[in-house]
Amino acid sequence: MKDGNCIFCKIANGEIPSATVYEDDDFRVILDLGPASRGHALILPKNHFKDICEADEVTAGKLFPLAAKIGAAMKKGLGADGFNVVQNNGSCAGQTVFHLHVHVIPRYEGGPVMVSWDPGKAESEELAKTADAIKAAL
Ligand code: AMP
Ligand code: ZN
Repeated sequence: MKDGNCIFCKIANGEIPSATVYEDDDFRVILDLGPASRGHALILPKNHFKDICEADEVTAGKLFPLAAKIGAAMKKGLGADGFNVVQNNGSCAGQTVFHLHVHVIPRYEGGPVMVSWDPGKAESEELAKTADAIKAAL
């Protein structure tokens, strides 16, 4: 299913041109217009899902293997030393385009720090309570 008002639907399905690095029946992989590093790519499903929770398991199951393939090509083709796989769900998590996408961000030795956080502290009792709350909702 496509959403006629969604820019990533239009890009994924070729209605809007993009710097495409990979395409198959289910996905188009494009370069991000505001790259965090050289080669920053976005994996776009051709069908519209708002986020990972809306995606069917077959589509979701193909995302990690494809991210690995793209990341490996970044290492080989661009000389990247590693890469981050990032996927934002919800505006509070940094999602700005509400069509499921996976960022594959090449990383270069000596490059800027990104995708990081300050580690907090948690007591084991609190961790157990938090784990119970998630388990109960599964
Ligand atoms: P997110 O914040 O996870 O929703 O990521 C959205 C990403 O899409 C950002 O990194 C934007 O730079 C990128 N973006 C937005 N519009 C376009 C576009 N038309 N073509 C390529 N990348 C885009
Ligand atoms: Zn869409």
